[in-house]
Amino acid sequence: MEVDVIIVGAGPIGIACGIEAKRAGLSYIIIEKGPLVNSLYNYPLNMTFFSTSDRLEIGGVPFISHGPKPNRAEALEYFRRVCMSHDLDLRLYEEVKAVTKNKAVFNVVTTKGEYAGRNIVLALGFYDRPYLLNVPGESLPKVKHYYDEPHPYFEQRIVVVGAANSAVDVALETYRKGADVTMVIRESELNKSVKYWVKPDMENRIKEGSVKAYFNSTISEIRPEDVVISTPNGVVTVRNDFVLAMTGYQPPFEFMESMGVQFHDDEDHTPVYDEATMESNIAGIYLAGVVCGGFRTNKWFIENSRVHADLIAKAIRKKSY
Ligand code: FAD
Repeated sequence: MEVDVIIVGAGPIGIACGIEAKRAGLSYIIIEKGPLVNSLYNYPLNMTFFSTSDRLEIGGVPFISHGPKPNRAEALEYFRRVCMSHDLDLRLYEEVKAVTKNKAVFNVVTTKGEYAGRNIVLALGFYDRPYLLNVPGESLPKVKHYYDEPHPYFEQRIVVVGAANSAVDVALETYRKGADVTMVIRESELNKSVKYWVKPDMENRIKEGSVKAYFNSTISEIRPEDVVISTPNGVVTVRNDFVLAMTGYQPPFEFMESMGVQFHDDEDHTPVYDEATMESNIAGIYLAGVVCGGFRTNKWFIENSRVHADLIAKAIRKKSY
């Protein structure tokens, strides 16, 4: 099967690309390694978007939410509806493993088969690949790389790893919902990026001892009943029920490089692409959404990258006919 466009990733922007490809009369498929909008599915259950619902709309489908800013459940419902109303060709739970170019056609190898496409859109996001701790015991079921909700941690001894916004939010929320919280922080202080109105709250909880914290420390082993922490004062073993590793998520640089996509030699490691067409240095490979920002994963988000879909569809259409 050969199509005009193979879109990798069914996040909001991959979906938008599918809609615009279809509107432009191009044949397409969207391949997604997880469920639809995998990243949004992995958000904390009680999250509310910072964007108002109208600014998340794609494909001309109105997004009506109860409040001005939708929550996770409303967004999942919305994107399911969008896909149904546009009758999109989705291949869910199918991971793209390799993309190679043979003359003018790309060969896409997935966990379920192979496809040929004249163009590729990489709408890969970054939220599906957590930075791992790489310590023994990380695969135990008590270790989580996504935070869901505080309830399961009530009266449980939890270790939160990390010092940025998500770690601090998780530590404060679980502490306030009855968990016994210990933070393990590699640096000597909380990350400077922590929201200025939240940081003093966290610092004061640590100072008063309500939340324990080991600074300049790392986890060296996770065991069913406890965790081993390397601290400046030696090795400490802490009784533990759950480890919440809030250590961030990694952009898919190697995967993109394996296709020949180049990156600027800058701090952000921004991929090379033409802003007018979103085409990368490899003719026929287009970039959309979060991946365009390199390490700056907050540069492009749903609101401001929806436009990529239209640019790409127009560019491919112009080239093809
Ligand atoms: P993603 O949504 O990350 O989609 C990429 C998809 O590609 C994923 O589903 C992934 O599973 C899939 N994928 C990756 N590799 C492969 C592969 N090899 N094969 C197949 N599939 C693959 N943005 C806003 O605009 N407004 C907000 O209010 C807002 N609130 C947010 C709140 C939170 C808690 C978080 C974490 C983010 C928020 N964002 C918000 C950011 C927003 O989630 C992202 O900008 C958005 O998801 C980007 O869409 P995307 O399609 O580029 O990438």
